[in-house]
Amino acid sequence: MIVGLTGGIGSGKTTVANMFSDFGIPIYVSDIEARKLMESSTEIHNELVALFGNKAIVNNKPDRAYIGNIVFQDKTLLQKLNSIVHPVVQKHFKQWYHNCKAPYVIKESAILFEQNLNNFCYAVITVTAPIEIKIQRVIKRDGSDRANVINRMNNQWTDEQKIALSDFVIENIDIETTRKKVAEVHQILLKKAT
Ligand code: ATP
Repeated sequence: MIVGLTGGIGSGKTTVANMFSDFGIPIYVSDIEARKLMESSTEIHNELVALFGNKAIVNNKPDRAYIGNIVFQDKTLLQKLNSIVHPVVQKHFKQWYHNCKAPYVIKESAILFEQNLNNFCYAVITVTAPIEIKIQRVIKRDGSDRANVINRMNNQWTDEQKIALSDFVIENIDIETTRKKVAEVHQILLKKAT
């Protein structure tokens, strides 16, 4: 059983994923795996050169700053970049998933709905928090400036759009309340899985 876990930037997806992991649930963090595959996959490298030119690859590695700068300003190119990386990540996820022995697995992705990955999930959990709290968390965590965080938020669906299509919503403000909600959702999913 694949359970999707999503939420806007700074909502607390990783924090919530770690709580499920404490219950022994395997977690696939799409963003981390995508980064690793972007570094190592020659299939992706070739497509990056086709899309962004030779400067996209330096010493056999993607120039993240160069590419990031381009897609930061161009939503269409950001979508094209996602459509290059996404199929390779999906293939990798399938291999990972088939090797998992657990009642269910969690696939964490900030852009689960944006990439229609919810269609491959038995259920979807969305983590939410008020916008200002999310902005402050990311500024504190990454040292990003406010405009950069807001720009990244604007490339994602709103919480309302995500909530409308979710099976579970975890509002992550107070950490202990979140932990209790995670335990509740875990029990429901365990029952479904068996
Ligand atoms: P991103 O999409 O940017 O990767 P995320 O949704 O995975 O973010 P986290 O990395 O889990 O979010 O959380 C963002 C920051 O906020 C982290 O530094 C985390 O420790 C902190 N944080 C998460 N939840 C809470 C909470 N309930 N109370 C206080 N701080 C929190």
